[in-house]
Amino acid sequence: MILEGKKLCKYYGTGESQVKAIHEIDFTVEKGEFISIVGQSGAGKSTLMHIIGGLDAPTSGEVIMNGTSIYTLPANQLAVFRRREIGFVFQAFNLVPSLNVWENIILPIGLDGKKADFEYIKDILNTLDIYEKRTSLPTALSGGQQQRVAIARAIAAKPSIILADEPTGNLDSRSSRDVLNLLRLSIQRYNQTLIIVTHNEDIASLSDRTVRVVDGSIVVEASQ
Ligand code: ADP
Repeated sequence: MILEGKKLCKYYGTGESQVKAIHEIDFTVEKGEFISIVGQSGAGKSTLMHIIGGLDAPTSGEVIMNGTSIYTLPANQLAVFRRREIGFVFQAFNLVPSLNVWENIILPIGLDGKKADFEYIKDILNTLDIYEKRTSLPTALSGGQQQRVAIARAIAAKPSIILADEPTGNLDSRSSRDVLNLLRLSIQRYNQTLIIVTHNEDIASLSDRTVRVVDGSIVVEASQ
């Protein structure tokens, strides 16, 4: 097991106006799994994703990743752990505007003192059809291209877990399938684990297992 959430709760506010964004969620993920998290807007998917990604502490409960209870770590150690273990793909791409595509992709690898695998990155960029754009600044790219850069950046660092929030939200259906296939190839090749949040049932159906969140709780876990 690579990831375990135990009785995860996240509450906002107090008293009558309190929102229980997620409530007592238990959640386990095996190494190498591809999991999709689905559910309506406001169900608690992003909250769950942020908590399991080490970005936002739960109100109560525990997240255990690779044997470490991550929220017991001091903030600076948690930041290092997160950078080493997790690749994020957010809806907002968080690309550095002053750096070109290639620099954006190798930046987190350098921060971690690791060496970039140039052939591998070239391969990723070619598969995502953005190799020609490697010296372009993010502002010169379309939304879909920026999304592919964010995906390339997450895969390039070879993290053990990739967390992606609507990774195909800006892409047409053909590009969506290409991106999903690339993510799948990556997790197979590097024995990674992939967790995506999606509204798209077609994309969810490509995963090994679908976790459905309704009103802050997991209601169905279906194996495909
Ligand atoms: P989803 O990703 O499924 O759309 P979210 O996790 O974003 O759902 O939100 C779950 C619930 O928590 C919603 O009711 C949302 O309004 C509430 N919520 C999320 N973040 C905050 C916050 N910072 N303050 C108050 N309520 C929040």
